[in-house]
Amino acid sequence: MKLLTNSALFRQSCYINGLWVDSAKKIAVTNPVDQTVLGNIPSLNITQVDEAIEQAHLAMAGWQQQTAKSRAIILRRWFELIEANVDDLGRLMTLEQGKPLHEAKGEIRYAASFIEWFAEEGKRVYGETIPQTVGSNRLSTIKQPIGVCSAITPWNFPAAMITRKAAPALAAGCSIIIKPATETPFTALALAQLADEAGIPAGIFNVITGDSTLLGERLTKHALISKFSFTGSTQVGRILSEQCASTIKKTSLELGGNAPFIVFADADMDKAVNSAVQAKFRNGGQTCVCVNRFYIHDAIFDEFQTKFTAEVAKLKVGNGLDVETDIGPMITSKAIDSMNKLLVDALSKGARRIMLGNEIEEHDHFINPKVLVDVDDSMDIVHEEIFGPIATLIRFKDENEVIQRANNTIYGLAAYFFTQDVNRVYRVAEKLQSGMVGINTGMISNEVAPFGGVKQSGLGKEGSHYGIDDYLSVKYLCLDLG
Ligand code: ADP
Repeated sequence: MKLLTNSALFRQSCYINGLWVDSAKKIAVTNPVDQTVLGNIPSLNITQVDEAIEQAHLAMAGWQQQTAKSRAIILRRWFELIEANVDDLGRLMTLEQGKPLHEAKGEIRYAASFIEWFAEEGKRVYGETIPQTVGSNRLSTIKQPIGVCSAITPWNFPAAMITRKAAPALAAGCSIIIKPATETPFTALALAQLADEAGIPAGIFNVITGDSTLLGERLTKHALISKFSFTGSTQVGRILSEQCASTIKKTSLELGGNAPFIVFADADMDKAVNSAVQAKFRNGGQTCVCVNRFYIHDAIFDEFQTKFTAEVAKLKVGNGLDVETDIGPMITSKAIDSMNKLLVDALSKGARRIMLGNEIEEHDHFINPKVLVDVDDSMDIVHEEIFGPIATLIRFKDENEVIQRANNTIYGLAAYFFTQDVNRVYRVAEKLQSGMVGINTGMISNEVAPFGGVKQSGLGKEGSHYGIDDYLSVKYLCLDLG
């Protein structure tokens, strides 16, 4: 690949048990900018997948015997190699995913931060002693790696969704098999190349590609896998969770969202507007914590609308490799179709689109950011995840009313609100049915804080000191001295 300085990062084979594995059947991967083929990846068959799982199982025995400190030293090397290759990894991500280069590099650093964090957290996997109920007993717990892990990850964060799962798994002493999204496998394979260079032993970190349904079945149903982690849509999460039930796997699910962003009348307007633009249009609106619904207090609605649309009008749509680009191409035409369905439904029910004045002619995967007003709760766009650059502005008058409307969804991932009233901060934050709440900010994700949803947005927490728990099992020891 011409655009990379380190051509070893461009891998078109799977990484299994420390080897680069191919298959006769291939899948072409395209650049969302112009649909040109970037390269091909293997479409593995079931036998190859089962072998990968068996080898990961065998490899784990040695890895879990190492001390947490020695695993941390290896993981630290992986972190440093990713940091050192941030330019190439960022370009590779932009090529296959479309996001602006500065965002892609930001994601690589974010992805690396999970490895740094969990390398350290692995050293703090403490058991405990428990006061006994019978005099001669001594009670304690130890924590052990849960076993072979599998993960299926999405295209919107091709690096971070992998390291957020793989780093705690590896730090805990587990092995992991990752199936990245078929749209964005090259970032995942580049991470595997660096894992290899870092000295992660064969079989501990594996990347497989192929038919999603076929591979998904093996990764959720194989008896040698103890833990399954998924980031993606609620719809697919339900299927995979059902598949995991047959072998009672521990599951972590990071699923869809429908984030409300509430601006109260006493908010710092400029801060709210700037945060609104960031929280809505990052990655072209294609993130699960992106705002789906803006609830703006009636008294400040017009001012917010004017300032917000003025900022949105400045956003430039284009190729993510151009430094001026704010919004790259959407990932697939299918994604655009489902967004357009929501748009048509909203417009047919009375929503109005504010024209920004700098619209490009929409073509291929390039679409304009859009701002809708006169939006109400009868429209599908209020209830379904938009996953694209459409902002819906909705009026509200009363705090209780807006909390009730914000919570009126099957989702509960992120929520945001803006106010300067400290009493309201706690009142509203406690009542929002959401795993994460941004208060006077639209940027909440980092490696030290727990990421995860409630309701049908998922199960479990990633990142933070909680993030390693899912990869450990607690064993209770009862010793009788008598
Ligand atoms: P998104 O809308 O973000 O693409 P999906 O849930 O469709 O979310 O996809 C997330 C990941 O799940 C991707 O890696 C995709 O290939 C995979 N996937 C989609 N459908 C299935 C399925 N039926 N079984 C296993 N994996 C699937």
